[in-house]
Amino acid sequence: MNRMFELDPNAVAWCNEKEPSQWTIAYFSSNAKSDMLLNNVCEVYNSMILDARDKPILTLLEKLKYLLMARMLANREKAKQWNLGASIMDNWAVDLEKRACSCRKWTFTGIPCKHAIAAIWANREDTLDYVHDSYKVETYRKIYENAIFSMNDRQIWPKSNKLPPLPPRSLTSTKRGRK
Ligand SMILES: [Zn+2]
Repeated sequence: MNRMFELDPNAVAWCNEKEPSQWTIAYFSSNAKSDMLLNNVCEVYNSMILDARDKPILTLLEKLKYLLMARMLANREKAKQWNLGASIMDNWAVDLEKRACSCRKWTFTGIPCKHAIAAIWANREDTLDYVHDSYKVETYRKIYENAIFSMNDRQIWPKSNKLPPLPPRSLTSTKRGRK
């Protein structure tokens, strides 16, 4: 903090207003197995559904279903082609049993850091045995193994005497958020 204060006192004040888990790696959660700090995933999703967001609920859901069907099919086909082999390679403390390194990269990503890889190779073991299951081809294939099937057109759906769903009031009055 002293060094930070010398560089920018406002930065110290900013950090002090926040929980340490929001700005220092020592307090980050290790549950996600991803070190992405950007919201690119949300941006991509938003742009993907852009032309469907202001549609009636059934049209929106049909569009989302179509997009998911296409994505699951594309990823399922892509995963069939994968045949990954072994890949990759101070003073860092590596604990292979706990799958952790004092640099914390392995803990946050689930992928052994270069220090861990060096330790794994020194043990003459396979690096891939130490990668978190989230990254395994089998896990990916399991995620996309089920397909979303098409369904009958809404013209032949059974008729209901219930009120049709209406959009939330916030959508019918002032539009908020980005377009
Ligand atoms: Zn490390």
